[in-house]
Amino acid sequence: MTDCLFCKIAAGEIPSNKLYEDEDLLAFYDIDPQAPVHFLVIPKRHIPSAAALTQEDQALLGKVFSTIARLCAELGVTEGGYRVVTNVGKDGGQSVPHLHFHVLAGRSLAWPPG
Ligand code: AMP
Ligand code: ZN
Repeated sequence: MTDCLFCKIAAGEIPSNKLYEDEDLLAFYDIDPQAPVHFLVIPKRHIPSAAALTQEDQALLGKVFSTIARLCAELGVTEGGYRVVTNVGKDGGQSVPHLHFHVLAGRSLAWPPG
């Protein structure tokens, strides 16, 4: 999608602090971190949000979560724990309309969220 911030980051047109990349996914640090570790995992393909996912995306989602597990292990935050969040739409607090998974770690995270 031409006018999408995260498509531009996935294409390398806008720089990011990259953590991991393969043919399907990109992981990069959030520009406004809400925890000592805060990165985003996005599919390179434009998907507006989790509300647009279909059965065809099963393999992609499996890859998203296995990648998150591996990156968190590499970052040393698995034992302490972490949170994976995807915001959907206005009430969900989504500000960038390209599917992304926040991964937050490194401090105790409150529940319920605000
Ligand atoms: P959400 O509000 O769930 O849509 O999350 C969007 C996230 O993208 C926010 O946490 C922003 O801080 C983050 N963000 C926005 N622009 C950039 C950027 N250029 N590089 C990295 N993260 C960004
Ligand atoms: Zn996009």
